[in-house]
Amino acid sequence: MPVNFTIAVFEGDGIGPEIMAPTLHLLETLQQQTTDYSLSFDTCPAGADWYAHTGESLPESSMHRARDADAILLAAMGLPDVRYPDGTEISPQIELRRQLNLFAGVRPVRVAPGPRTPLKLEGNQAIDFVLIRESTEGLFYSQGRGEVTADCAEETLRITRQTSAKLFRFAFELAEQRHRSGQGSGTITCVDKANVFRAFAFFRKLFDEEAQHHKSITGNHAYVDATALWMVQKPWIFDVLVTENMFGDILSDLGAGLMGGLGLAPSADIGEHHAVFQPCHGSAPDIAGLGIANPFAMILSAAMMLDWLGSHNHLPVMVRHSQQLRDAVYQVAVNDAQTPRDLGGSNSTIATAGYVEQALAEFA
Ligand code: ATP
Repeated sequence: MPVNFTIAVFEGDGIGPEIMAPTLHLLETLQQQTTDYSLSFDTCPAGADWYAHTGESLPESSMHRARDADAILLAAMGLPDVRYPDGTEISPQIELRRQLNLFAGVRPVRVAPGPRTPLKLEGNQAIDFVLIRESTEGLFYSQGRGEVTADCAEETLRITRQTSAKLFRFAFELAEQRHRSGQGSGTITCVDKANVFRAFAFFRKLFDEEAQHHKSITGNHAYVDATALWMVQKPWIFDVLVTENMFGDILSDLGAGLMGGLGLAPSADIGEHHAVFQPCHGSAPDIAGLGIANPFAMILSAAMMLDWLGSHNHLPVMVRHSQQLRDAVYQVAVNDAQTPRDLGGSNSTIATAGYVEQALAEFA
């Protein structure tokens, strides 16, 4: 009997449904090749368009279904013209992170040599690191709490022992897992600004405490400004990076830039009991409905989901499917004749996903 997983699917707004449909098709194709696992997709309404029609951005029933699901696959939510009465944008994905306590934002940066990256790589310079962004506190904790007077604005950064301990344990375990599988060098770098702020000295101290429990991994420290420099000058030195929310927000876009743009940047937001997988980009309302959106980041996020479910449930076939899906995307992404418009090609979303399906068939 296959192990069945329920996936809560949030298609969301803008290009969301356009990139989600071919991604679900690829997942269907993969699961048909095995009797070890199966996936049931549960489409959940939420987002700016849903809010515009119903007055609710994340209905309670969708939240329940997300909580009950084995994993959550999300495309993109939010539209610039649809806002709450206070003027802020509709972003149920942030609400999901809060309610499900998804403290670890995982942003893999894997740079395929070729035309996409702005870096000039020598033959042996492989870039494959993971940036982990704390996703529930840091400076973002202040969202909606900041104080603004006529003369002064203040926002407060928050670092707690409880969340940092979970974050660092997660990060060290990921470094160990990568090292075991021959993917990483067994190094983890805590990125902070401990030379200036007490909160970051505290963050670093908690990192060092966790390091004591992971003797097989080398724990380093780096300041965030130097890290930005090195991500451009010598990104191949990194394996796992772990950092505060705001620093992670900025560095993950730099990582996406190294890969060749947001169109190739997947992500996962992971907690102790739940996980959301979604592309780093937004709903791209300027191209919604045109059928030209790049589906790569969405497909790579689905690959991360397969890897997470497979690893947690001891299903090697699922982990293998994840690798095949990822390799298929990278194979297509370096071929100018098969890429979508944002990567310089002329292919539609559906045609691009079709090339990924063809590449996948070669790996099967
Ligand atoms: P958010 O704040 O929700 O991240 P945003 O407004 O910063 O959203 P996006 O929605 O990501 O940004 O869009 C930024 C630009 O990138 C737009 O020009 C958009 O068309 C383009 N873009 C984003 N995602 C894709 C995609 N998958 N395929 C093609 N172009 C994309």
